[in-house]
Amino acid sequence: MASEKVLAHLDAHRQQHVDQLCEFLRIPSVSSQADHKQDVRRACAFVADELRGLGLEVEIIETDGHPLVYAQSEQRPDRRTLLFYGHYDVQPVDPLELWKTPPFEPRVEDGIVYARGASDDKGQVFAHFKAVEAYVRTGTGLPVNLKFIIEGEEECGGHGIYRYTEQHADKLACDAVVISDTTLYNETTPGICYSLKGLAYMEIRVKGPDMDLHSGSYGGTVQNPANALAGIVAGLKDRDGRCLVPGFYDDVLELEKEERDGFAALGYTDAILRKETGAPAAWGEQGYTTLERMWARPTCDVNGLASGYGGEGAKTIIPSRALAKVSMRLVPNQDPERIAAAFAAHVAAIAPAGVEVEVVNHHNAAPVLVPRHSPMMQAGMNALKRGFGADPVFIREGGSIPIVGTFQAWLKAPVLLLGYGLSTDNIHSPNEKFDLANFWNGARTTAVLLEEAARA
Ligand SMILES: [Zn+2]
Repeated sequence: MASEKVLAHLDAHRQQHVDQLCEFLRIPSVSSQADHKQDVRRACAFVADELRGLGLEVEIIETDGHPLVYAQSEQRPDRRTLLFYGHYDVQPVDPLELWKTPPFEPRVEDGIVYARGASDDKGQVFAHFKAVEAYVRTGTGLPVNLKFIIEGEEECGGHGIYRYTEQHADKLACDAVVISDTTLYNETTPGICYSLKGLAYMEIRVKGPDMDLHSGSYGGTVQNPANALAGIVAGLKDRDGRCLVPGFYDDVLELEKEERDGFAALGYTDAILRKETGAPAAWGEQGYTTLERMWARPTCDVNGLASGYGGEGAKTIIPSRALAKVSMRLVPNQDPERIAAAFAAHVAAIAPAGVEVEVVNHHNAAPVLVPRHSPMMQAGMNALKRGFGADPVFIREGGSIPIVGTFQAWLKAPVLLLGYGLSTDNIHSPNEKFDLANFWNGARTTAVLLEEAARA
């Protein structure tokens, strides 16, 4: 197989690839902070240079925010096409004092590189670049047509990539989208994530009197917004953990037996959950295991609750206002807009008299489900198996990656979430890291994927 030579090249250049990755990691491309604007540009230029170095045709696309880098190989009609997506921007570094070494001075120790962006997402994107480079340097013909779209606004909620995908779906057309911005199942088990939860993010605002009132003078004569809100929140879920919003479960796709068996075989126990979270006990909707709740059941959770006085000692008031932030994590095939509307209607129905209640829908994301049994998914599984030398598993994810839904909707192609990171990589936290074994195995996986996808 052609990939033998390619893999040998990757294995022989490991140190060089780490050194190059460190160059990328030295650029402080924090997209949400204006004083890093030029650094974000530099990271964009770095990506463009890398892709140009692979002999690809490169375009820098300006947006309202930070630019996109688009690149493509020669597009031959007789070959399959893969579109690789990733991002070159990174999260802010605060709190800086908790970093053992500076976030933009990469430190390699015991086979791990520590730096902001190491795992999310520079290291994972760079693994793709090195895989393609190995084809080029060994003179091995590319088995597929390649396209890359690498953005600089993933960590700051920019819309450039969404608009571009909607307006240029033809240009991004492909047989599969490959995204490495997630994790292996655990240290030893690679996996493909085939489902992501969606989101409906709500806020409940309760208004009572114009100002905080003396609880002795006025208590019992007007509705208390904090009491009213507590009643509303209590009416969102029953004691068994089921959401009480009418119609909430109507469109929920139940797990298939094969999925439940697959989850069970992963051996995730409540003891592991307690260890990871520090929670005194596992708890959730009756009739489902912890992993099923985590990956495949919708949730309704208060994220923030504010009202009245929380300071030292006592202050005797009837608060003027109360507020709750509520996130509903949704699963296939729930529709975020429908759920948001049902939520607002339910809150209106259970709100007590004597207060004004307003419900705001901050933002939504659609849940994602990629069919597990397709030639491209199989190609991804085969690539992981060979790249990591271990049998991969199918996993789901409780979080949302909105771009996946956009790609699915506009490109009508399967999205392969081949995660090369670990859940312990401290992404978005101090001391972010990336295990070099995962970096190297990731590059191997991408290299094999090109060949597997060509045959799929
Ligand atoms: Zn990321």
